[in-house]
Amino acid sequence: MRFGPTGISVTPAERYESAAGNRWPMSIMPAPGELLSSWLHRLAYANGIPPHYFGALLEAPGENWSARLDRALPGRILQLLEEHTHIPLEDITALTNAPDPLAVLRLPLRASPQQSCAPKTQATWLQFCPACLAEDETPYFRRDWRLATRVSCFRHGCRLRDRCPSCGQGLAPFSQKRLVPHQICAWCGAALCKRTRPATNGVRRLERLIDDLLRLQASGHRMAEGRSLPDLLGSACFQFSRRPMSIARLSHRDRYQLFRQLTDGQSTPFGTRRSSAIIYWKRVAQVAPAWGGLVTSFSDAVLPRPKAGPCSNTAGPNLADLVQAAARLDQQRQAL
Ligand SMILES: [Zn+2]
Ligand SMILES: [Zn+2]
Repeated sequence: MRFGPTGISVTPAERYESAAGNRWPMSIMPAPGELLSSWLHRLAYANGIPPHYFGALLEAPGENWSARLDRALPGRILQLLEEHTHIPLEDITALTNAPDPLAVLRLPLRASPQQSCAPKTQATWLQFCPACLAEDETPYFRRDWRLATRVSCFRHGCRLRDRCPSCGQGLAPFSQKRLVPHQICAWCGAALCKRTRPATNGVRRLERLIDDLLRLQASGHRMAEGRSLPDLLGSACFQFSRRPMSIARLSHRDRYQLFRQLTDGQSTPFGTRRSSAIIYWKRVAQVAPAWGGLVTSFSDAVLPRPKAGPCSNTAGPNLADLVQAAARLDQQRQAL
């Protein structure tokens, strides 16, 4: 609009469509290791749409629409996201947990977020590290946080949470009807980043060993006789609340307690029935204390020594990388 000597002249602005095409105003790049639902909530927030209504825009059914998409992303929605964000299809697909060789160890997703009323003994669908959320430039939720075998943060060494520290209810960012970021509880409006206590060294060693073994499984290594490690770990039943439950059905509090009992040599809630799954859990707990030393010696033997620098308390070498490095060395020797 301009004011001139003969009056006011109005020049129409360029239409949004011709200036930006079909792109949404804001395109958010996925963060490393981010879960699809987390990226969708951030995308919705950046474009001024509360997640509850963004699910309707995508025509994704169910109250927990985004968590469902983590497990199965229909081609129609994948195409729509690619068209409006211009992020490659494969990058969006990589945010999902599908296909999922560790499905049996994923925390359960209920039909509706009635987990808002879930007692503290019940598993919720997603965990988080409050320290990671507090440190992130833009807080986001990681794919690994949906695994029941994870109870602490490899980066910070603190325990994860599976509930809001204020109201004690499971996370439901997909239900958020107000325009607030997803690190704010959708039920009570409290920040989720209240710090937790550190995990014990024993728990962290056991968790790290299980994570390494699962990475091997996911990268194609198989146990003897074609057994599936996730199935073996996921089929063991533990006695909590007087009921036998697999690890994926336990709350974070009970899973952390289970890991402590296994590593402290306390009596473990295995119940009376002994199975190969129970025996395997016990065996893994027994070897966990020596695991770090074994991996270090292995990495010293097959990987170049790192340059001297400040000490880091981040996670140790990745076992799958070590095995691949050893295989490459073996190939080189055979070639010679
Ligand atoms: Zn963390
Ligand atoms: Zn809350």
